[in-house]
Amino acid sequence: MSIIKSILRWARKKSLWVLHYNSGGCNGCDIEIVDLLTPRFDVERLGILAEASPRHADVLLCTGPVTAQSRDRLIQIYNQMPAPKWVIAVGSCGCSGGVFTGSYNIHGGIDKAIPVSMYIPGCPCRPEAVIAGILKLSETID
Ligand code: SF4
Repeated sequence: MSIIKSILRWARKKSLWVLHYNSGGCNGCDIEIVDLLTPRFDVERLGILAEASPRHADVLLCTGPVTAQSRDRLIQIYNQMPAPKWVIAVGSCGCSGGVFTGSYNIHGGIDKAIPVSMYIPGCPCRPEAVIAGILKLSETID
């Protein structure tokens, strides 16, 4: 492996930029994600940076089940992210559809629309669990 590739891998591992998307949840998990991005947790010290554009994001933090209305948009966002990219399903709804399972417009968890690298259950998911998940994901980049 060239030295440039190793530097790129090291930089990516130490600085994962995350994009948050709610594909149809109740907003409970989203409030927890917003909480983890506040100075209380100061995740930038860990290299985690909130990014607004999928074109600059490494990780998609996705909450909620996949609804019929959001499915195409979720796939479009995923396709706009540059490789390598990872998806974390946040909350019970993101993992499996959760309390919305069986509803007429619900496809299920995030993996019903796009590939998922990590599942973090909880209703809602705690900010500490999401931070631990992102750091665990960064360990696997090697
Ligand atoms: S897991 Fe719970 S808190 Fe999160 S979106 Fe689903 S119902 Fe809401």
